[in-house]
Amino acid sequence: MEKKGILIVISGFSGAGKGTLVRELLKKYDEYVLSISMTTRTPRPGEQEGVEYFFTDREHFEETIERDGLVEYAQYCGNYYGTPRAYVEEQLAAGRNVILEIEIQGALKVRKEYPECLLIFVTPPSAEELERRLVGRGTESREVIQKRLSRAVEESEGVEAYDYIVVNDRLEECVEEIHCLVDAARRAPVRRNEFIQGIREELFSIAKGVQK
Ligand code: 5GP
Repeated sequence: MEKKGILIVISGFSGAGKGTLVRELLKKYDEYVLSISMTTRTPRPGEQEGVEYFFTDREHFEETIERDGLVEYAQYCGNYYGTPRAYVEEQLAAGRNVILEIEIQGALKVRKEYPECLLIFVTPPSAEELERRLVGRGTESREVIQKRLSRAVEESEGVEAYDYIVVNDRLEECVEEIHCLVDAARRAPVRRNEFIQGIREELFSIAKGVQK
């Protein structure tokens, strides 16, 4: 297998349960690492600097964009969110599968820059369930929930750009499903370039020898 890790983008409607899913995946398998994003949103109660996000202001965020320090960034409900470049590249080179938990505009930018990345979209079983989870979380005001639901409507238009959709109904099954998708992705020709190149060269020299 190729040494380079796979870049896995996980998106999904706000409230789809991506966070829990990713945490379980990281706990269960040590081949995954999570990229911590930078954001200008204010921390929610309990969120810690450098754990959920690197929290910063708009000025610093824009400076980071200027010096090409982000793989991608997007505005979401009035705040900037972006993926720091250095960590992603280091980890991929070290052979780890890097997870980006990002929204759809960012996902599409990642696909452009890293065409061999894997795009997975996570959704709850129904829209009703989505609203129930967002309200149940109890961390956002009614207004913010409304914004996030409107954003979900927009995002639902872009789902076709993803490689796979995973329905987050039972957590355990969903974690396994994602792990299987990554395992299958590793076997796609686009991620086996070195192997294919090597076998082509060998075939070529064997075939030449047979012809003599
Ligand atoms: P939240 O405020 O709920 O933590 O995140 C809001 C949205 O921003 C979620 O859909 C989340 O996946 C997305 N997000 C988090 N980090 C990034 C990032 O670095 N880039 C982009 N494009 N989206 C992000």
